[in-house]
Amino acid sequence: MAELALDEDELDEDKNKKAKAVLTRVQELARTINPGTRQIWSLLTAYANADDAELLLTFLDLITACMARIGGDTDDLGLCQDVNPAGTDPDLDIGNKISVLGPLAKKYQPDLYRALVWLSDPRAHREGAGQAAKRLAIGAGIQMEVTGNTSFKDDEPVLYQWPSSCQSVMSPVYKFLLDQIARRDDNGESLQDVIPLGVCWEGCRRVFVYIRKGRKEFCNNTCRQDHWNHLHPGARKETMKENRKTEKRRAAIQMHGRKPFRHRVKPF
Ligand SMILES: [Zn+2]
Repeated sequence: MAELALDEDELDEDKNKKAKAVLTRVQELARTINPGTRQIWSLLTAYANADDAELLLTFLDLITACMARIGGDTDDLGLCQDVNPAGTDPDLDIGNKISVLGPLAKKYQPDLYRALVWLSDPRAHREGAGQAAKRLAIGAGIQMEVTGNTSFKDDEPVLYQWPSSCQSVMSPVYKFLLDQIARRDDNGESLQDVIPLGVCWEGCRRVFVYIRKGRKEFCNNTCRQDHWNHLHPGARKETMKENRKTEKRRAAIQMHGRKPFRHRVKPF
């Protein structure tokens, strides 16, 4: 799956096959994904950190989940103005638009990464506020279509809502971020609760979702350990020395079938 080509020529060759694979994946996602808040944070960081091989699929995962969150589906992604600039293309099938989505995935990633870095600590990264706000405004511009349920029954929604043609496939993504920021700015929840983001500055520099407050310096234990080893090269040598001693002791026990004999000095 990670080998989906973005190259136009290659797309022509194998276009149908790859388009079908992507379509199936997107439809599957649209059906199964539960766009819970935490899950969307994970999708956001996966896309923001993605390398070339993972870029397109992490992008599709993210835009599909965020579009589903505001009541849209894959047709609504196909109607976004950056995917369908002429607005006249009758083909709304997002699976057939890989040649457009690939470059968009590449284009939008750096801005999102920077916005997440800013959000992870708006005090420390003030310089990112202006640029991030411009992107967030895309999310604020979503118009919703609203219609009343004329054949309402108890187990049905009173209203049906879905987005009008969005400016960008990223609009619902930035709308998600805006809604989380509003929880802090309007409802007074703590920033750490609503924006569970850290950046692994001393390690791999990836953005990550943290589980526990106060442990947000490293994305995982490997980065934490690597950094510690880097700061304490002597301590590492000591540990290795200790390990060698332990190994020697173990070898001796194996050879003699018991702990090495130690002379006991009898008191006079
Ligand atoms: Zn890391």
